[in-house]
Amino acid sequence: MKEEKKPSRKPLIFYYFIALIVWLLFNSILAPGLFGTKVQEVTYNFLLEQVAAGHVTQVVMENDRYLFTALDENGKERLYKTGLWPDYSELTEQLKEAGVKFGGTIPAKNNSLLTSILGGILSLLPLLLLGFFMSSMLKKRMGDSMGNVMSFGKSNAKIYVEAQTGKTFLDVAGQDEAKEALTEIVDFLHNPQKYADIGANLPKGALLVGPPGTGKTLLAKAVAGEAQVPFFSISGSEFVEMFVGMGAAKVRDLFKQANEKAPCIVFIDEIDTIGKKRDNNMGGNDEREQTLNQLLTEMDGFDGAKGVVILAATNRPETLDKALLRPGRFDRRIPVELPDLKGREAILKVHGKNVKLDSSVDFNTIARATSGASGAELANIINEGALRAVRQGRTTVSQSDLEESVEVVIAGYQRKGAVICEREKQVIAYHEIGHALVAARQTESAPVHKITIIPRTSGALGYTMQVEEGEKVLMTREEGFNKIATFTGGRAAEELVFGSVTSGASNDIEQATRLARAMVTRYGMSRNFDMIALETVTNPYLGADTTLSCSPETAARIDEEVNDLIRSAHEKAIGILKENVEKLHELAHFLLEKETISGEEFMAVLNG
Ligand code: ADP
Ligand code: MG
Ligand code: ZN
Repeated sequence: MKEEKKPSRKPLIFYYFIALIVWLLFNSILAPGLFGTKVQEVTYNFLLEQVAAGHVTQVVMENDRYLFTALDENGKERLYKTGLWPDYSELTEQLKEAGVKFGGTIPAKNNSLLTSILGGILSLLPLLLLGFFMSSMLKKRMGDSMGNVMSFGKSNAKIYVEAQTGKTFLDVAGQDEAKEALTEIVDFLHNPQKYADIGANLPKGALLVGPPGTGKTLLAKAVAGEAQVPFFSISGSEFVEMFVGMGAAKVRDLFKQANEKAPCIVFIDEIDTIGKKRDNNMGGNDEREQTLNQLLTEMDGFDGAKGVVILAATNRPETLDKALLRPGRFDRRIPVELPDLKGREAILKVHGKNVKLDSSVDFNTIARATSGASGAELANIINEGALRAVRQGRTTVSQSDLEESVEVVIAGYQRKGAVICEREKQVIAYHEIGHALVAARQTESAPVHKITIIPRTSGALGYTMQVEEGEKVLMTREEGFNKIATFTGGRAAEELVFGSVTSGASNDIEQATRLARAMVTRYGMSRNFDMIALETVTNPYLGADTTLSCSPETAARIDEEVNDLIRSAHEKAIGILKENVEKLHELAHFLLEKETISGEEFMAVLNG
């Protein structure tokens, strides 16, 4: 509906003006004389009498009638018609005698068949015009909704139907739990009767929840592909822009179509856009609520045994209306989480099949370097790697392509042309080595994989990449503290070597603060608060926003705690660098010279 222009609102005077013109037109047509006289039907005898009286001016034979004009008592010409009399010799004589023109054509404005048809249309025209303007005025009043509802179902319905999605569970890597939960649905779609016979009710709907890019849409398509049934999909966001009543109508239409095609899958993507909690206050989004209500009605109404399964996906499950999650609706919840180490490797392998890889490729290393990446990001990394190989004129993708694209996805492209002066380059090199040294000198922190001072398009001037040995799901207090110390290591090196600080640490500051805050408010890792939830996460899958749930006094104490935590980590970092100050200089110069060094090179210099 995006492309539909809102009709411009014309002032009311415009319509009065149109009405006036229509009225004038209407009058003029009915008024005799302006467009010619009306034809009056008379007897043959009347014609003879008029001829005898010498009033007739002209006579013409047309089909089986006489049309004639005669002057009335006021001397005005009038038009008459009469039936044909078999014996017309007498009339002909009389006409000759009276010197009346006969046999010729009477002026077209008065009487030809064409004119009478035209006249008919002309006299209807004002009515038509009036009707047209009336209805368009009415439409405007009603906010344009009528016309659209009426045309709905033909042009506007953006319901996508795929006879075959072409996706299978093999296309979805990792996500084993989700696949297992969905296998039952596939089996049900294959054979609904088996379930009906025993009297089992399969859930009508399943809700896929998880962060963006984890493969929810892909999974829904794979279910349809595995079951070899049609796939109806519609995105919740498409309901948002619609006019009142449209959303509900579309839902109705969707279910009607699905019922005809059963067994099939109906997939509602981004269901949170219509399924948000309904609130009681007036002036809420009526359209959304109507759509939601219609969805609930349809879900209750249809016969689950027919083999229609409704899947929905969202990354904001916490905002959904409780009514949607009731038994008989989306009562099965399938988590689709970010992939773990094994999952990431599997996803890389699935997408790696589509590109030509050389023997250097080691997906395990890439997977370890991409903790926290989603399936979509991993797919992107493979593609970026392939693009880089093409750019460099190679025919296969190498490990260094993939490693570079990890950095592209995390930190943006290299800015080779960026000019950075020697002095600033030094600061950046010391800053990065500061991070790396602090990380290396602490136990419980991930080993350094790569350090670079080539600037990136994201704005990063340098970059230290750490790769976890294995997958960690828990974080101890010490690990958290060490991480903060590593974040502060860059700034600490600047202070130690140059005696002043730069703005280069802004991202470090952000990350350190976020972690320290979470440790105090959510992980119960501060000394002054016990296991008390000071903050709650409001949307776990999107950015993990938090809301503070404590008194203002406590909030002030939290800030102090966070500051103390970061300060002591910062002091620890400075201490580590002071102890290793020669290595700091040596490594910084090494990095300045090479611009990019690997973890092994770093360790080699550090250890001797
Ligand atoms: P979501 O709907 O959860 O936001 P999508 O299903 O749209 O995510 O995933 C986007 C793309 O990312 C997919 O088309 C696919 O290429 C890739 N992808 C995501 N998760 C996986 C996965 N588990 N296995 C394989 N590819 C995946
Ligand atoms: Mg999606
Ligand atoms: Zn830094």
